[in-house]
Amino acid sequence: MKSPQLLSLTSSVYEENETEPPDLLSHSGAITRIQDRKLGVTVNSPFGEKTLRFKEQFYPNVSMKEWSSWQWQLSRSITSWQQLSNFIKLSDRELMSAEMKKKLPMRITPYYASLIDPEDPLQPIRRTMVPVYDELLISPEEKPDPLGEETQSPVPQLVHRYPDRVLFLATGVCAAYCRYCTRSHMVSNNDKVHSSFTSWDVALDYIREHTEIRDVLLSGGDPLTMSDNRLEYLLSRLRQIPHVEIIRIGSKVPVVLPQRITSGLVRMLKKYHPLFMSIHFTHPDEITPEVAFACNRLADAGLPLGSQTVLLKGVNDDPEVYRQLAHKLLKIRVRPYYLYQCDQIPGSAHFRTPVAKGLEIIKALRGFTSGYAIPHFVIDAPDGGGKIPLLPNYLAERNEKGYLLRNYEGKYYLYPEAQEPV
Ligand code: SF4
Repeated sequence: MKSPQLLSLTSSVYEENETEPPDLLSHSGAITRIQDRKLGVTVNSPFGEKTLRFKEQFYPNVSMKEWSSWQWQLSRSITSWQQLSNFIKLSDRELMSAEMKKKLPMRITPYYASLIDPEDPLQPIRRTMVPVYDELLISPEEKPDPLGEETQSPVPQLVHRYPDRVLFLATGVCAAYCRYCTRSHMVSNNDKVHSSFTSWDVALDYIREHTEIRDVLLSGGDPLTMSDNRLEYLLSRLRQIPHVEIIRIGSKVPVVLPQRITSGLVRMLKKYHPLFMSIHFTHPDEITPEVAFACNRLADAGLPLGSQTVLLKGVNDDPEVYRQLAHKLLKIRVRPYYLYQCDQIPGSAHFRTPVAKGLEIIKALRGFTSGYAIPHFVIDAPDGGGKIPLLPNYLAERNEKGYLLRNYEGKYYLYPEAQEPV
């Protein structure tokens, strides 16, 4: 519910612009009161303080309405070193990278750039977005397509690995490019991914013909970078296929471009339930008022939300950091779902942790926090083996008496095997 005060402020912006107000203006929780210099009005919005300071410093003449537009954010993305150097002091490793040609381009929305520490090259969010020289160092085990998706693709842009579900690579575009991206061989590559209706129709025909497919994951690239109309084209056609029971969208947009989660988008998404969303979170600092607003809006529209997090060295490979992330996610109604071992893509060794680190994080969580806060730790097996879950060893021994189990405190309990009643 909007407060009366907020309604009147919103109305004043309506009148001044004679257009629909920016979506952020209709929020009544976690409000920041701000003065929009360009429009000459005071508005209440869910803006993080750090983001507001950044906007005032680097975009003083941009109105809050423009800043809150996802199209404005996308069109002003930071894609060159020259632009980036206006905002941050580049380190030697970053500068060395600037001179080399890389496969995965740089792209950061101004909003997400506002969360980057300009002075600290080791800040987690900065490490995930700003290329460094280490990306050019290739380890022997690394491959461009480590999950073997291209070999499990019956038609272009569709991966059919598991019996009853498919991955639909709807677009190659992302709102921001993550430096550890598993699909760095194809995202931003127009030769590999087309988002034309003709290319999609081939994939849709395949799904129609394969009645065993009950679950479609729309991913890419990031499907939420597309317009509502294009996304609805896909969702509506998938919904017309009787055997498709659930549709999932995989996206990082709510994190790097929360402005995209407009009231119009969620109105459209609601028509295609059951619809789930897997959101790609990396670090607790990503959970800002803007992101909380976007996720709450999606949850209010009835979308079950889960998070997928890649375990990254120096970013989130610490039980306490992951715990903070999980707790913050639950507060914005996102269930921590997967914690992935970082895939072996070329130039990712500086991000990859030992497998034991993931197990250590799960062990530090189980029993010490709500079960809802504990993700599945998985390795996506090389060459198309699929996701394989790993757990700390809670089964100490199995013998003729039953199972000897170890609990989270390291205490042992015998669980007897079921026997016939006497
Ligand atoms: S948003 Fe996803 S697909 Fe896009 S670069 Fe990041 S990890 Fe890759």
